[in-house]
Amino acid sequence: MKYPKITTFILVRNSLYYWHMIELFNISKKYKGKTVLDNIDLSIQGRDFVSVIGPSGAGKSTLLHILLGTERPSKGIVQIDEFNITKMKNKALHELRRKIGIITQDDMLLPEKTVYENVAFALEISGYKKSYIKSRTSDVLEIVGMIEDKKSFPRQLSAGERKKVAIARAFVVAPQLLIADEPTASLDPESAHEIVKLLLEINSKGTTVILATHHKSLVDFANKRVIRLEAGRIVSDKKESGYHHK
Ligand code: ADP
Repeated sequence: MKYPKITTFILVRNSLYYWHMIELFNISKKYKGKTVLDNIDLSIQGRDFVSVIGPSGAGKSTLLHILLGTERPSKGIVQIDEFNITKMKNKALHELRRKIGIITQDDMLLPEKTVYENVAFALEISGYKKSYIKSRTSDVLEIVGMIEDKKSFPRQLSAGERKKVAIARAFVVAPQLLIADEPTASLDPESAHEIVKLLLEINSKGTTVILATHHKSLVDFANKRVIRLEAGRIVSDKKESGYHHK
């Protein structure tokens, strides 16, 4: 296979530019000789919504970490448009991650900060102007339905509400890609559906979303592309379909 050219990553800083394609070529990952991902080839169109399903240990988190650049593959290339991120130096990877929002099972909110401060903080550390931080934070809290609770502390919220704040924090930086790794794991079905609705809404605004989940009903509900991983391999890839069509 002809691997793409390695180039410097410069376009990620330009917010007017949308990623067109995220591609994995021949990705394998081994931990101490154990194969966790086995020759994965995958293309994700920019602005798509993709669910990744599969049993525990299938390699879903590892795949997401490789996309995020927090894990390096043992073999293969990850490419965003014409840029090879696999060989990227740490500084460039840091820039890249500023364009990727991540939501995990654990919401990781700062307990001593209010809802508003938790979300605004993501912009503060990126050096945005105060006036922009104020308006953008309020807009995003409005989108996730948490503006009324902006002065509350995380401990005063339900698990579902905290997750909405975590989504706001990931989305506030206007990411190109939002990675959600089991975001509904600790939620009741109603809250879990609300979270997927929010991810769909964020996707409709132009952000590519990758959702890793165990919850079949959520994937059916999203009714978007579904990739199934088993023992480190893609065993099915259904476009615009729910899990039940497997
Ligand atoms: P999933 O997210 O589908 O549950 P993971 O990607 O977390 O799967 O894990 C896939 C396999 O890789 C598991 O067998 C897990 O034990 C192994 N694994 C993940 N991370 C590491 C690591 N840092 N060191 C060794 N093994 C790991």
